[in-house]
Amino acid sequence: MNPERSSHKSLCTAVGSRRFFERLAYTMALHDVNLRHASNCPFGHSLLPPANHHSPQRTGQRLVQIHTWRAVSEEHRRTLIRTKATLSRGVGVDGGSPDTFSKDGLAMSVMADSDIEGDPKQFLKVSEAYWQAMKSAPAKRAPAVIRVRHRRLQQEMDCDVAVCGGTLGLLLALGLQLRGHKVCIVEKRRVEGRLQEWNVSRSELQVLTDLGLVTEQELQDSIATEFNPVHIGFHSKQQHPDIAAEDVLNLGISPKKLLGHMRGRFLESGGAIHEGAAFHSAEVYPEGVVIRVSNGTEEPITAGDANRPLAAQDALRQSAPAEAARNGSSGDAAAPQHADNDRRTSRTEAGVSGRPDHVTCRLVIDCMGHWSPIVRQMRGSSKPDGMCLVVGSCASGFPPEQNRSADFMRTVTDADADLQLFWQAFPAEGGAARTTYMFSYADCAKQRPSLQGLLDRYFELLPGYQSCSLTDLKIKRVLFGGFPCYSHSPLQPQFDRIVQVGDASASQSPLSFGGFGSMLRHLRRLTDGLDQALRQNMLARGNLKLLQPYQPSLAAAWLFQRSMALKPGQLREPRGRRGAVSGFLPPTHINTLLAANFRVMQMLGDRVMRPFLQDTIQFWPLSAAMTGTLFIAPLTILRVLVQVGPKVVLSWFRHYVMLGVYSFLHFISKPLHKRVRGYRAQRIFEAWRCGSGADYAHQQ
Ligand SMILES: Cc1cc2nc3c(=O)[nH]c(=O)nc-3n(C[C@H](O)[C@H](O)[C@H](O)COP(=O)(O)OP(=O)(O)OC[C@H]3O[C@@H](n4cnc5c(N)ncnc54)[C@H](O)[C@@H]3O)c2cc1C
Repeated sequence: MNPERSSHKSLCTAVGSRRFFERLAYTMALHDVNLRHASNCPFGHSLLPPANHHSPQRTGQRLVQIHTWRAVSEEHRRTLIRTKATLSRGVGVDGGSPDTFSKDGLAMSVMADSDIEGDPKQFLKVSEAYWQAMKSAPAKRAPAVIRVRHRRLQQEMDCDVAVCGGTLGLLLALGLQLRGHKVCIVEKRRVEGRLQEWNVSRSELQVLTDLGLVTEQELQDSIATEFNPVHIGFHSKQQHPDIAAEDVLNLGISPKKLLGHMRGRFLESGGAIHEGAAFHSAEVYPEGVVIRVSNGTEEPITAGDANRPLAAQDALRQSAPAEAARNGSSGDAAAPQHADNDRRTSRTEAGVSGRPDHVTCRLVIDCMGHWSPIVRQMRGSSKPDGMCLVVGSCASGFPPEQNRSADFMRTVTDADADLQLFWQAFPAEGGAARTTYMFSYADCAKQRPSLQGLLDRYFELLPGYQSCSLTDLKIKRVLFGGFPCYSHSPLQPQFDRIVQVGDASASQSPLSFGGFGSMLRHLRRLTDGLDQALRQNMLARGNLKLLQPYQPSLAAAWLFQRSMALKPGQLREPRGRRGAVSGFLPPTHINTLLAANFRVMQMLGDRVMRPFLQDTIQFWPLSAAMTGTLFIAPLTILRVLVQVGPKVVLSWFRHYVMLGVYSFLHFISKPLHKRVRGYRAQRIFEAWRCGSGADYAHQQ
């Protein structure tokens, strides 16, 4: 008898547990044992992760799995040896139950590579805990961090404006500082951009030089990657040709470089930065605001930090010993791998200081992202109305000829488990690397997969999607997160002297979540408006609300997001999966809808397609595209109406009518824009302009 098989048999008998077989699979991989052979365990144990029995391409997927597991085994051979100890303690992030997408630690084995930026396992653990709590726990009311005081504030102001959160907040901080206001930034971590590039279109960047935030040369230096075209394609039996578009999201901006240039200019022009200083709470007085500041490095890492792992290294260091003690390890695994030398000098820069106890100011700009403590108080106990779940990676090793163009949006499968998976791929680092994202529109229902499960699925499907092998890829960073979204966006200020911007304001499109692109589109409007509000002392809640007005163009996008999100149970599953219950939507539904919609937009031309690709919804292009889609795919549109429900349809219709009204008001008010200069009038004109999508300028 084959000695390998005999030892395998005795081990099966002796242990017989699933975790044991995970370990055995890794051990066999280390000894170059053929996994295909190993999967034929005489005792019926599969050494491979179970195939997805409900997928239409079950056999194909199983082959991909075998391929992937082999690839991972070879690629991470050295890493696996290092992580053997970890495996013996189990590989789950949260020790939680396996979900539909879980592939028994494929993502964890990839993330075991110590060359990957930051400490993705640690950040995944935190993000997963947020996501699990959002799904399972009843919504809890967040602690009140803002208190309103009616007595007089007897203190000198430290500054005019305190910008809390120094990522996109830096853009406004610098804009206002350059207009003569005294601005300080209160940042929990460090004021520095992440390494992962932001994708935008060139025309969107113009505002940065127009406002004097960067020079042409600095802007050029921050453009890490440029490519064309971007493709759009949907999985279908009919094999429709791809749609290609030029100059859309075709630049990769290095946030680290861009924000680095702005940080330098901000300090030179007299701005102050408090790093490692976390917004704790604030008291709003009639004359100003007192912000209480806590020690940022002692603040635990949060889901928001996963986006910028290197900036949160100090906090990770703080949490590492406690974590290591809990895990019984030395803590080395959690130790940061990428200590950034720059930061040692940052504290000696003029204008940069550590944590004050408090900061007094006339206006607070809340740019603390989706998880801002002020936003949590304002949103109350309401859970997000939707979630966009994103996983991805940036890796080198793709064939150069494959890495010259991008995928703006692509599907490679039909919907499964009530989720339609979408893919994006962009050249990065000047073409030396490629970023690939897999995302899905969902909600906070319990049955939604874990982030780890999605990452498993991502690494399982990536080789098929990009026609590559994981063995050839060198993963530089792993990306994951959830974008919460709300039907009522943007979030309007609820307190005097406090206004939300960036992700905190939820003013980005619920389709793309391109928060940087959205900030660029609104930057001039916000800078002008805040400048005028400060000069004219228009800082009461009612005045600040005009800076984040109702925008029908943004609200109308909500229906499109909902039409790409399936509610649990809506998908028609093969018999037996959920007993007798079976949904009414075929797995092809979203692919059919999108293929029809994009075909119509392509036929209608650039004036319809391009604004949509750049997150702008306008009345006439929308009307034409909707009518065309209704004409060529009436049954699919009927299904969408049932899928999203009458409430969403009716509210969308209201936004659609308002889109028309705003377009009309913007058109007829144009002659007044330069004549009526009052604060309120200007804000109303801007609301009509951006609310109708007229802020988008069509480029030939
Ligand atoms: C994987 C991924 C890819 C993306 N790709 C793109 C893209 O290609 N194009 C694009 O336009 N957008 C993209 N985005 C979105 C973009 O990154 C965000 O919209 C943008 O970072 C939002 O910036 P922000 O400053 O509003 O919030 P955040 O980036 O969340 O920054 C919040 C800041 O506030 C600080 N902070 C938090 N709490 C406190 C506190 N209590 N006290 C003081 N400071 C605090 C944080 O440390 C941080 O600096 C992507 C996002 C992700 C996750």
